[in-house]
Amino acid sequence: MAEWIPAPGLQVAIDGPSGSGKGTVAAMLARKLGLPVLDTGLLYRFVGWKLAALGVPLDDEAAVLAALDAALADMRWREDGILDGEQNVTAALRGEDVGRLASKVAAMPEVRARLLEVQRRCAESGCVMDGRDIGSTVLPGAQAKFFLTASERERARRRWRQLRERDPEIDLDAVHHDIRMRDAQDAERAHSPLKQAEDAIRIDSTTLRVDEVVDRMLAIMERRGLIRRAEPA
Ligand code: C5P
Repeated sequence: MAEWIPAPGLQVAIDGPSGSGKGTVAAMLARKLGLPVLDTGLLYRFVGWKLAALGVPLDDEAAVLAALDAALADMRWREDGILDGEQNVTAALRGEDVGRLASKVAAMPEVRARLLEVQRRCAESGCVMDGRDIGSTVLPGAQAKFFLTASERERARRRWRQLRERDPEIDLDAVHHDIRMRDAQDAERAHSPLKQAEDAIRIDSTTLRVDEVVDRMLAIMERRGLIRRAEPA
């Protein structure tokens, strides 16, 4: 049973760069609140991955847009990940290589506009949503907005630990380099760049455990009257 009761329709936006811990934090927070958790990075990852699989050159914006509807036709975005037809393809989307493809298509305004509709529809009845532009663009009316950061080296180390489960040979410095490139691409793009929303609360998680970050968020939301403790059964 959830430990907290959220206000009806509560939307919690968690933004931040790669490796800031937002995915893990969002999942734990959502569990405690009994809300669905939606990872928007997966949507961009899916688009990059699917178009590449269809042989569409991702540097050619016209070709990407022409193929976008076909790529999204059989996609379903759910709490447990992304389905392409009947197949759950989430695991295939997690690597740094797919992250780079995602970052390319994410710089295209028409791709963002198309995915914006999908994200807003799914968030309607309340959720914890994590990404890069949730507080600023996707859900500007979200009642709680957090911006999660950590030092670049710590973020690289976290990604490296995750990726090492699939590839024990993976090199920390190479992961660090990839993170730096992707952050630059995400922060410098013209449309919806990674940016803290004005009314978002910034939390630096470099020296905090996941549960400590989540506890801070819960305390802030409780103070604002957005959540209350569930009575013990
Ligand atoms: O968070 P994750 O690493 O899965 O995101 C993959 C890429 O998708 C990011 O580098 C970014 O380019 C893009 N993205 C985005 N807006 C979001 C979520 C992800 O542009 N809300």
